[in-house]
Amino acid sequence: MNRTPSPLTPILLLALIVLTLTGCGQQEQIITSRFLAFGTMIDLSISGVSSKQAAAATAAIEKDFAQMHKSWHAWDPGPLGRVNRLITTGAKFSVPPSVLEMIRRSSELAVSSDHLFNPAIGQLIDAWGFHSDDPAGHRPPKPEVITQLLQQNPRMSNLVLDGITMYSTNPNVKLDFGAFGKGFGIDLAINHLRQMGIENAIINAGGDLRAIGSPQDRPWRIAIRHPSGKGTLASVEVAGDESVFTSGDYERNFTWKGQTYHHIIDPRSGYPATDTSSVTVIHPDAATADAAATALFVAGPNNWYNIARNMGLRYVLLVDKDRAIHMNPAMQKRLKLDKKQYTINLSPALANGNNE
Ligand code: ADP
Ligand code: MG
Repeated sequence: MNRTPSPLTPILLLALIVLTLTGCGQQEQIITSRFLAFGTMIDLSISGVSSKQAAAATAAIEKDFAQMHKSWHAWDPGPLGRVNRLITTGAKFSVPPSVLEMIRRSSELAVSSDHLFNPAIGQLIDAWGFHSDDPAGHRPPKPEVITQLLQQNPRMSNLVLDGITMYSTNPNVKLDFGAFGKGFGIDLAINHLRQMGIENAIINAGGDLRAIGSPQDRPWRIAIRHPSGKGTLASVEVAGDESVFTSGDYERNFTWKGQTYHHIIDPRSGYPATDTSSVTVIHPDAATADAAATALFVAGPNNWYNIARNMGLRYVLLVDKDRAIHMNPAMQKRLKLDKKQYTINLSPALANGNNE
């Protein structure tokens, strides 16, 4: 979430539909706008309100994202940078509100993912060079550095919260919300849109999105990126209130001595997770979808199902490193694959009682 876009920054994959509103004989548009935040392009689509209302809402949301970007940057000076500095002291301090709620939510998600999503591993992410805005030209850390960082065992549970004050029992915790901040930010922005009377919208950050309502009672059709990073793998329809998040190894990586290292780190080994190409999660809130996509990427084809159950997920699609698809039956029902030639491994239902 902290990067500047490269020319390859994947652009959106959302198929916007139909612009006519029947009945009143008027054209009702889906009003779209685009701006940069968290190092990625944000596409905002609003429908069902006047263009004046949409323009005011767009300006407000753009401001929100600029503020969030500043507050949650892990290494630029700002509220999160300050929290990270104070964590190393072991002393008690008061946590700024913009960071407090993130710590609370992400701690819950760390626990339910069995710490495969672990935003306390900022030092490890730094060692890999994925904290810099451009990881190209990096080399893997020395094995002894990784061993040492693993021994320090940073966990969200090292952070002791009492109201708004906090201290860390482990000076080696460094918060990195790269796997979660985008989702959390989209949730805040959707709440703000609703406060402004907007009921039909999509906020899409480079293919990760949350949609509310639907344009003219039709579902939004969302494309899911192919794990190669090029083109699309499938599409799903979303209506009502849902988020679709994908974590892929094509997002950020560097090549050293012929081997490519990507940015999703297995907190148990200290190395990039090896068995997955991409994971897509559909979930009501974006923060959970974001953290879960990262956690299931780390869990891999053999363990994703247990973690998904634990996190209360209902729709998961995992593409493994050999490009075989793993998913639950409810996801299969919703997914329209672009091509049919994939090997599909269907898991048991995720949620009990309704064949999901
Ligand atoms: P994307 O950047 O494609 O949205 P993710 O949501 O999976 O991808 O986030 C990856 C980022 O999260 C990394 O760049 C790093 O900052 C951080 N990260 C990497 N591995 C983990 C992990 N196991 N738990 C928490 N954060 C992680
Ligand atoms: Mg994520």
